[in-house]
Amino acid sequence: MNNFGIAIHGGAGTLLPSEFTPEKEVQYKTALQEALNAGYNTLQKNGSALDAVEIAVKHLEDCPLFNAGKGSVYNHQGKHEMDASIMCGATLKAGAVTMLRKIKNPIALARAVMDKSEHVFLCGDGAEQFAQLMNIELVDESHFDTELRYTQWQKAKDETGSFLDHNIKLGDEKKFGTVGAVALDAEGNLAAATSTGGMTNKKFGRIGDSPIIGAGTYANNYTCAISCTGHGELFIRSVVAYDISALMEYKKLTLAEACHEVVMKKLVAIQGEGGLIAIDKMGNIQMPFNSTGMYRAMKKSNGDGLVAIFK
Ligand code: ASP
Repeated sequence: MNNFGIAIHGGAGTLLPSEFTPEKEVQYKTALQEALNAGYNTLQKNGSALDAVEIAVKHLEDCPLFNAGKGSVYNHQGKHEMDASIMCGATLKAGAVTMLRKIKNPIALARAVMDKSEHVFLCGDGAEQFAQLMNIELVDESHFDTELRYTQWQKAKDETGSFLDHNIKLGDEKKFGTVGAVALDAEGNLAAATSTGGMTNKKFGRIGDSPIIGAGTYANNYTCAISCTGHGELFIRSVVAYDISALMEYKKLTLAEACHEVVMKKLVAIQGEGGLIAIDKMGNIQMPFNSTGMYRAMKKSNGDGLVAIFK
Protein backbone atom coordinates (compact mmCIF):
# COMPACT_ATOMS: atom_id res chain seq x y z
CA MET A 1 0.00 0.00 0.00
CA ASN A 2 1.30 3.46 -0.87
CA ASN A 3 1.59 6.43 1.40
CA PHE A 4 -1.73 8.15 2.17
CA GLY A 5 -2.91 11.04 4.32
CA ILE A 6 -5.58 13.58 5.08
CA ALA A 7 -5.75 17.16 6.40
CA ILE A 8 -8.84 19.08 7.52
CA HIS A 9 -9.63 22.63 8.61
CA GLY A 10 -12.44 24.28 10.56
CA GLY A 11 -11.70 27.88 9.55
CA ALA A 12 -9.06 30.55 10.14
CA GLY A 13 -9.27 33.94 11.85
CA THR A 14 -8.43 35.84 14.97
CA LEU A 15 -7.97 32.85 17.23
CA LEU A 16 -5.95 33.62 20.34
CA PRO A 17 -5.07 31.29 23.22
CA SER A 18 -6.22 33.94 25.70
CA GLU A 19 -9.78 33.58 24.38
CA PHE A 20 -10.01 29.84 24.97
CA THR A 21 -10.68 28.04 28.23
CA PRO A 22 -8.97 24.64 28.40
CA GLU A 23 -12.43 23.01 28.11
CA LYS A 24 -13.23 24.90 24.91
CA GLU A 25 -9.92 24.03 23.37
CA VAL A 26 -10.59 20.37 24.10
CA GLN A 27 -14.09 20.66 22.63
CA TYR A 28 -12.80 21.98 19.29
CA LYS A 29 -9.87 19.63 19.13
CA THR A 30 -12.12 16.66 19.85
CA ALA A 31 -14.47 17.69 17.04
CA LEU A 32 -11.53 18.05 14.65
CA GLN A 33 -10.11 14.69 15.74
CA GLU A 34 -13.42 12.91 15.13
CA ALA A 35 -13.76 14.31 11.61
CA LEU A 36 -10.11 13.52 10.90
CA ASN A 37 -10.51 9.94 12.09
CA ALA A 38 -13.60 9.44 9.95
CA GLY A 39 -11.66 10.50 6.86
CA TYR A 40 -8.50 8.64 7.83
CA ASN A 41 -10.36 5.38 8.53
CA THR A 42 -11.84 5.57 5.04
CA LEU A 43 -8.36 5.86 3.55
CA GLN A 44 -7.05 3.06 5.75
CA LYS A 45 -9.77 0.74 4.47
CA ASN A 46 -8.54 1.49 0.97
CA GLY A 47 -11.33 4.01 0.37
CA SER A 48 -10.87 6.80 -2.16
CA ALA A 49 -9.58 10.28 -1.40
CA LEU A 50 -12.95 11.59 -2.63
CA ASP A 51 -14.87 9.48 -0.12
CA ALA A 52 -12.46 10.48 2.65
CA VAL A 53 -12.83 14.23 2.09
CA GLU A 54 -16.61 13.96 1.74
CA ILE A 55 -16.95 11.98 4.98
CA ALA A 56 -14.65 14.30 6.94
CA VAL A 57 -16.50 17.39 5.71
CA LYS A 58 -19.89 15.81 6.53
CA HIS A 59 -18.74 15.32 10.10
CA LEU A 60 -17.73 18.97 10.32
CA GLU A 61 -21.02 20.09 8.71
CA ASP A 62 -22.97 18.17 11.34
CA CYS A 63 -21.00 19.77 14.19
CA PRO A 64 -22.51 23.12 15.30
CA LEU A 65 -19.07 24.40 16.29
CA PHE A 66 -18.20 25.14 12.66
CA ASN A 67 -19.64 27.52 10.09
CA ALA A 68 -20.96 24.93 7.62
CA GLY A 69 -24.15 22.87 7.56
CA LYS A 70 -25.55 23.02 11.10
CA GLY A 71 -23.79 26.01 12.62
CA SER A 72 -23.85 28.12 9.45
CA VAL A 73 -23.85 31.87 10.00
CA TYR A 74 -26.79 34.22 9.31
CA ASN A 75 -26.86 36.53 6.30
CA HIS A 76 -28.23 40.10 6.38
CA GLN A 77 -31.81 38.81 6.03
CA GLY A 78 -31.40 36.48 8.98
CA LYS A 79 -31.22 33.38 6.73
CA HIS A 80 -28.60 30.73 6.16
CA GLU A 81 -27.14 30.37 2.66
CA MET A 82 -24.62 27.59 2.27
CA ASP A 83 -21.96 26.86 -0.33
CA ALA A 84 -19.80 23.79 -0.99
CA SER A 85 -17.52 22.25 -3.58
CA ILE A 86 -15.54 19.08 -4.21
CA MET A 87 -12.91 18.13 -6.80
CA CYS A 88 -11.29 14.88 -7.94
CA GLY A 89 -7.58 15.15 -8.74
CA ALA A 90 -7.58 12.04 -10.96
CA THR A 91 -10.26 13.17 -13.42
CA LEU A 92 -10.35 16.96 -12.75
CA LYS A 93 -14.10 16.51 -12.34
CA ALA A 94 -15.72 18.91 -9.91
CA GLY A 95 -19.09 19.67 -8.32
CA ALA A 96 -20.16 22.89 -6.61
CA VAL A 97 -23.32 24.31 -5.06
CA THR A 98 -24.24 27.72 -3.73
CA MET A 99 -27.14 29.61 -2.08
CA LEU A 100 -28.51 26.45 -0.46
CA ARG A 101 -31.08 26.89 2.30
CA LYS A 102 -32.36 23.39 2.96
CA ILE A 103 -29.63 20.86 2.26
CA LYS A 104 -28.47 19.12 5.44
CA ASN A 105 -25.06 18.25 4.00
CA PRO A 106 -24.11 20.62 1.19
CA ILE A 107 -20.97 18.60 0.42
CA ALA A 108 -23.11 15.54 -0.42
CA LEU A 109 -24.98 17.63 -2.99
CA ALA A 110 -21.71 18.96 -4.46
CA ARG A 111 -20.57 15.33 -4.82
CA ALA A 112 -23.84 14.40 -6.56
CA VAL A 113 -23.43 17.34 -8.96
CA MET A 114 -19.96 16.03 -9.81
CA ASP A 115 -20.92 12.36 -10.11
CA LYS A 116 -24.46 12.47 -11.45
CA SER A 117 -25.04 15.65 -13.42
CA GLU A 118 -23.56 17.02 -16.61
CA HIS A 119 -22.79 20.29 -14.82
CA VAL A 120 -20.25 21.66 -12.37
CA PHE A 121 -21.99 24.47 -10.49
CA LEU A 122 -25.66 24.61 -9.38
CA CYS A 123 -27.33 27.34 -7.38
CA GLY A 124 -30.33 27.93 -5.09
CA ASP A 125 -33.73 26.45 -5.93
CA GLY A 126 -32.40 24.59 -8.95
CA ALA A 127 -29.72 22.92 -6.86
CA GLU A 128 -32.36 21.95 -4.29
CA GLN A 129 -34.60 20.47 -7.02
CA PHE A 130 -31.65 18.41 -8.19
CA ALA A 131 -31.09 17.30 -4.57
CA GLN A 132 -34.67 15.97 -4.41
CA LEU A 133 -34.12 13.96 -7.58
CA MET A 134 -30.93 12.54 -6.10
CA ASN A 135 -32.58 11.65 -2.77
CA ILE A 136 -30.23 13.98 -0.89
CA GLU A 137 -31.57 14.91 2.53
CA LEU A 138 -33.45 18.22 2.78
CA VAL A 139 -34.33 19.73 6.16
CA ASP A 140 -36.39 22.63 7.41
CA GLU A 141 -34.43 25.91 7.39
CA SER A 142 -34.75 26.02 11.19
CA HIS A 143 -32.37 23.03 11.36
CA PHE A 144 -29.52 25.49 10.79
CA ASP A 145 -30.50 27.92 13.55
CA THR A 146 -28.12 28.08 16.49
CA GLU A 147 -28.10 30.56 19.31
CA LEU A 148 -24.46 31.40 18.94
CA ARG A 149 -24.75 32.36 15.26
CA TYR A 150 -27.89 34.35 16.03
CA THR A 151 -26.05 36.35 18.68
CA GLN A 152 -23.17 36.93 16.27
CA TRP A 153 -25.56 38.19 13.63
CA GLN A 154 -27.30 40.51 16.10
CA LYS A 155 -23.89 42.06 16.78
CA ALA A 156 -23.04 42.37 13.10
CA LYS A 157 -26.30 43.27 11.41
CA ASP A 158 -26.18 47.01 11.88
CA GLU A 159 -22.63 47.20 10.58
CA THR A 160 -22.04 47.89 6.91
CA GLY A 161 -19.72 44.98 6.22
CA SER A 162 -19.78 41.23 6.38
CA PHE A 163 -17.54 39.31 8.76
CA LEU A 164 -15.49 36.20 9.04
CA ASP A 165 -17.39 34.51 11.83
CA HIS A 166 -14.22 33.96 13.84
CA ASN A 167 -13.53 37.68 13.89
CA ILE A 168 -16.71 38.81 15.62
CA LYS A 169 -16.00 39.73 19.20
CA LEU A 170 -18.46 37.85 21.35
CA GLY A 171 -16.59 37.23 24.55
CA ASP A 172 -16.13 33.57 25.13
CA GLU A 173 -18.30 32.36 22.30
CA LYS A 174 -16.83 33.62 19.13
CA LYS A 175 -14.52 31.61 16.92
CA PHE A 176 -15.65 29.08 14.39
CA GLY A 177 -15.37 28.64 10.67
CA THR A 178 -15.70 27.23 7.21
CA VAL A 179 -14.62 23.62 6.89
CA GLY A 180 -12.58 21.63 4.41
CA ALA A 181 -10.57 18.49 3.76
CA VAL A 182 -7.84 17.33 1.37
CA ALA A 183 -6.61 13.78 0.97
CA LEU A 184 -4.23 11.45 -0.88
CA ASP A 185 -5.38 7.83 -1.09
CA ALA A 186 -3.34 4.65 -1.40
CA GLU A 187 -3.96 4.62 -5.17
CA GLY A 188 -2.20 7.97 -5.46
CA ASN A 189 -5.36 10.00 -6.10
CA LEU A 190 -5.92 13.45 -4.61
CA ALA A 191 -9.22 15.16 -3.68
CA ALA A 192 -10.36 18.38 -2.02
CA ALA A 193 -13.66 19.52 -0.47
CA THR A 194 -14.86 22.76 1.17
CA SER A 195 -18.17 23.73 2.79
CA THR A 196 -19.34 26.98 4.37
CA GLY A 197 -22.16 29.20 5.57
CA GLY A 198 -20.11 32.12 4.18
CA MET A 199 -19.66 35.39 6.04
CA THR A 200 -21.94 36.72 8.78
CA ASN A 201 -24.26 39.50 7.59
CA LYS A 202 -23.47 38.87 3.90
CA LYS A 203 -25.85 40.70 1.53
CA PHE A 204 -27.26 40.67 -2.00
CA GLY A 205 -26.69 36.97 -2.69
CA ARG A 206 -22.99 37.24 -1.92
CA ILE A 207 -20.97 34.12 -2.77
CA GLY A 208 -17.46 33.55 -1.40
CA ASP A 209 -14.51 31.49 -2.58
CA SER A 210 -15.54 28.16 -1.02
CA PRO A 211 -17.77 26.89 -3.87
CA ILE A 212 -15.57 28.35 -6.60
CA ILE A 213 -13.30 25.77 -8.19
CA GLY A 214 -9.80 27.23 -8.44
CA ALA A 215 -10.42 29.84 -5.72
CA GLY A 216 -11.46 27.95 -2.56
CA THR A 217 -11.03 24.36 -3.76
CA TYR A 218 -8.81 22.60 -6.27
CA ALA A 219 -7.32 19.14 -6.84
CA ASN A 220 -5.04 17.78 -9.52
CA ASN A 221 -3.17 14.46 -9.22
CA TYR A 222 -0.23 16.04 -11.01
CA THR A 223 0.28 18.65 -8.28
CA CYS A 224 -1.82 18.95 -5.11
CA ALA A 225 -5.23 19.25 -3.44
CA ILE A 226 -6.22 22.49 -1.67
CA SER A 227 -9.09 23.72 0.52
CA CYS A 228 -9.12 27.37 1.64
CA THR A 229 -10.64 29.43 4.44
CA GLY A 230 -10.57 33.17 4.89
CA HIS A 231 -11.92 36.40 3.47
CA GLY A 232 -13.49 34.98 0.32
CA GLU A 233 -13.38 38.10 -1.85
CA LEU A 234 -9.58 38.24 -1.60
CA PHE A 235 -9.27 34.50 -2.19
CA ILE A 236 -11.37 34.78 -5.35
CA ARG A 237 -9.28 37.67 -6.64
CA SER A 238 -6.08 35.73 -5.96
CA VAL A 239 -7.43 32.45 -7.43
CA VAL A 240 -5.67 30.92 -4.46
CA ALA A 241 -6.20 27.18 -4.82
CA TYR A 242 -5.36 26.99 -8.52
CA ASP A 243 -2.47 29.41 -8.12
CA ILE A 244 -0.71 26.98 -5.79
CA SER A 245 -1.22 24.12 -8.22
CA ALA A 246 -0.01 26.30 -11.13
CA LEU A 247 3.14 27.36 -9.25
CA MET A 248 3.92 23.67 -8.78
CA GLU A 249 3.05 22.67 -12.32
CA TYR A 250 4.66 25.47 -14.29
CA LYS A 251 7.33 26.83 -11.98
CA LYS A 252 8.18 23.50 -10.32
CA LEU A 253 7.87 24.94 -6.83
CA THR A 254 7.47 22.47 -3.96
CA LEU A 255 4.15 22.41 -2.10
CA ALA A 256 5.72 24.30 0.81
CA GLU A 257 7.20 26.98 -1.48
CA ALA A 258 3.97 27.45 -3.42
CA CYS A 259 1.89 27.72 -0.23
CA HIS A 260 4.31 30.25 1.25
CA GLU A 261 4.27 32.36 -1.90
CA VAL A 262 0.48 32.57 -2.03
CA VAL A 263 -0.57 32.65 1.63
CA MET A 264 2.29 34.62 3.17
CA LYS A 265 3.12 36.99 0.28
CA LYS A 266 0.41 37.35 -2.34
CA LEU A 267 -2.58 37.30 0.05
CA VAL A 268 -0.84 39.36 2.71
CA ALA A 269 -0.10 42.07 0.12
CA ILE A 270 -3.85 42.61 -0.40
CA GLN A 271 -4.87 41.99 3.26
CA GLY A 272 -6.34 38.61 2.34
CA GLU A 273 -6.71 37.12 5.79
CA GLY A 274 -6.95 33.35 6.07
CA GLY A 275 -5.23 30.08 5.32
CA LEU A 276 -5.53 26.72 3.64
CA ILE A 277 -4.75 23.04 3.86
CA ALA A 278 -2.78 21.32 1.11
CA ILE A 279 -1.50 17.85 0.27
CA ASP A 280 0.67 16.84 -2.68
CA LYS A 281 0.99 13.61 -4.63
CA MET A 282 3.85 12.45 -2.36
CA GLY A 283 1.68 12.92 0.74
CA ASN A 284 3.43 16.09 1.97
CA ILE A 285 1.00 18.27 3.94
CA GLN A 286 1.08 22.04 4.45
CA MET A 287 -1.41 24.04 6.57
CA PRO A 288 -0.29 27.70 6.27
CA PHE A 289 -2.32 30.68 7.55
CA ASN A 290 -1.65 34.40 7.89
CA SER A 291 -4.27 34.96 10.62
CA THR A 292 -3.54 34.31 14.29
CA GLY A 293 -5.03 30.83 14.16
CA MET A 294 -6.67 28.13 12.09
CA TYR A 295 -8.55 25.07 13.31
CA ARG A 296 -6.63 22.28 11.64
CA ALA A 297 -5.64 18.64 11.85
CA MET A 298 -3.80 16.07 9.77
CA LYS A 299 -2.83 12.43 9.82
CA LYS A 300 -0.51 10.46 7.56
CA SER A 301 0.05 6.73 7.06
CA ASN A 302 3.68 7.18 8.18
CA GLY A 303 2.40 8.00 11.68
CA ASP A 304 2.65 11.82 11.53
CA GLY A 305 -0.33 13.61 13.04
CA LEU A 306 -1.37 16.99 14.45
CA VAL A 307 -4.46 18.69 15.84
CA ALA A 308 -3.93 22.43 16.42
CA ILE A 309 -5.59 25.84 16.59
CA PHE A 310 -2.91 28.47 17.22
CA LYS A 311 0.47 29.19 15.58
N1 ASP B 1 -14.05 31.70 2.80
C1 ASP B 1 -15.38 31.78 3.34
C2 ASP B 1 -16.17 32.80 2.56
O1 ASP B 1 -15.64 33.84 2.24
C3 ASP B 1 -15.40 32.17 4.78
C4 ASP B 1 -14.54 31.34 5.71
O2 ASP B 1 -13.53 30.78 5.30
O3 ASP B 1 -14.89 31.23 6.91
O4 ASP B 1 -17.35 32.60 2.34
